[in-house]
Amino acid sequence: MAYAKPLPVLDVWNRPFWAAAREGRLVAQGCESCGHVFFPPGPVCPRCRSRTLSWRELSGRGRIESWVVFHQNYFKGFLNEMPYNVAMIRLDEGALLMSNVVGAANDALRIDMPVEVMFEPATDEISIPKFRPAPRDGT
Ligand code: ZN
Repeated sequence: MAYAKPLPVLDVWNRPFWAAAREGRLVAQGCESCGHVFFPPGPVCPRCRSRTLSWRELSGRGRIESWVVFHQNYFKGFLNEMPYNVAMIRLDEGALLMSNVVGAANDALRIDMPVEVMFEPATDEISIPKFRPAPRDGT
């Protein structure tokens, strides 16, 4: 059955991110000048404007910084998952990534909840990074 949700449009900047995701790896650009790790991918560091960037393997671990729950259906592909959450995940490396938290009820989501990445296969080319609750030692 065809994937019914919106898919990313691949370009020269985001292609390494999606190629890694297809292999089950989460990567982001990091700045060689100031160390900033960020999304979305682009030609310059948004913090210091350096063009000396490299792709970095991330731990896939982070925490929920914020989220919303959609009760209104905007995309037919989400109809069977209403209501669904869209969350901002603050990754351990500092980058902020928008995704969905799966494996937890929407009313169980909390600010600062530890999560870890998993990948939902969508097409032959695209796997979507999503996040699930990940208990941590000492938290
Ligand atoms: Zn920088």
